[in-house]
Amino acid sequence: MDLNTTENQRMVAQMTRDLVEKHLRPRLMEWDESQELPIELLKEKFGPSGLLGMLVPQEYGGAGLGYAEYVTALVEVGRVCGSVGLSVAAHNSLCTGHILQFGNEEQKRKWLPKLASGQWLGAWALTEPNTGSDAMRMKCTARKEGNEWILNGTKCWITHGISSDVVVAIVRTGELLDSNGMTAFVIERGTPGLKAGKKENKLGMRASETAEVIFEDCRIPEANVLGQVGDGFKQAMKVLDGGRISIAALSLGIAYGAYDASVKYAQEREQFGKPIAHFQAIGFKLADMATRIEAATLLTLQAADRKNKGLKMTKESAMAKYYASEVCVWASNEAVQIFGGYGYTKDFPVEKFYRDSKLCTIGEGTSEIQKLVISREVLRD
Ligand SMILES: Cc1cc2nc3c(=O)[nH]c(=O)nc-3n(C[C@H](O)[C@H](O)[C@H](O)COP(=O)(O)OP(=O)(O)OC[C@H]3O[C@@H](n4cnc5c(N)ncnc54)[C@H](O)[C@@H]3O)c2cc1C
Repeated sequence: MDLNTTENQRMVAQMTRDLVEKHLRPRLMEWDESQELPIELLKEKFGPSGLLGMLVPQEYGGAGLGYAEYVTALVEVGRVCGSVGLSVAAHNSLCTGHILQFGNEEQKRKWLPKLASGQWLGAWALTEPNTGSDAMRMKCTARKEGNEWILNGTKCWITHGISSDVVVAIVRTGELLDSNGMTAFVIERGTPGLKAGKKENKLGMRASETAEVIFEDCRIPEANVLGQVGDGFKQAMKVLDGGRISIAALSLGIAYGAYDASVKYAQEREQFGKPIAHFQAIGFKLADMATRIEAATLLTLQAADRKNKGLKMTKESAMAKYYASEVCVWASNEAVQIFGGYGYTKDFPVEKFYRDSKLCTIGEGTSEIQKLVISREVLRD
């Protein structure tokens, strides 16, 4: 199906495709194997092209585009490399998105131009070692002393936890299990007490850096509080509503990549004297892949459309993320099967789609948590 129905989307698709074919595809396996975050690619190629400030209005140095174009860009990056797609998603919708949605005018003018241009790379820190899905029980704290806040604790699984120039962290400022007991802070790299911890050695998304972020008596000025003290958890849930559209889009990109490679291979590979695509068992796999990917695309575009219109889309973004990510894992698995033994090697792209795909059912809320969100919303409706 044609995902890109507007002139802006077609322009973004072409620009992103050109960029990833020229600068990303040639080196993606090298970065995957060495687990190297391609910082230069992000800061020097993606940043100046507008891919790191897609949703940021032009007055703050961004591309001033909407969620439809953002979905388009993530699909194009994901088709080639899930890792870099994850980095683009975390930078745009989590760190930058949080400041954009909840920062005051002074904060937006201070941080958004640097993030949108790619001069600075962003991270967003909610998860802790013992609190993933159950973020309300977070242990990381901030206490007020004069005009400063002092942060202590460890966040984990943070995308760009080491290489980010700025971190938005949600930490406890009130009572445990109080949804009004958490606050969002902006912490710039170089602030004493902000440290990077262990870097994870991952199954997939290996070129997207994932690491601990540690706060040890880290002093933050009052001016770095985003929104009201106590609103951090509610802000984070709203940020995740938008973020989940980006993971749905990334899932689509990986699924399209796996599907396209499978269609081509099935027509080229011959067994028993004919292309394997002519075996119904393979043809039906392609039919199922095409159908489910289109359904996932429609759910994602629906959520993006509601977000653009400023409508509530908690249910729609959870549905899109849940379904697209499960389709992405399933389609990548089918792709490896269609490639047979060759699919199990690093000579063909589908093994990487297979490894990268799994993150999509985990990051920004697992599939089980999406189902909790959806069931809560449908019961409320
Ligand atoms: C590559 C990567 C990048 C990430 N980037 C970031 C980032 O930038 N910032 C950030 O803050 N976090 C990030 N995360 C963390 C991610 O959001 C969490 O891993 C995710 O929310 C799940 O938390 P957990 O890993 O602690 O799993 P757990 O919460 O321990 O869940 C374990 C299992 O139990 C299930 N489960 C838990 N609670 C329930 C329930 N109530 N009902 C049913 N089932 C349940 C889960 O679905 C899952 O299957 C990243 C993770 C990865 C792997």
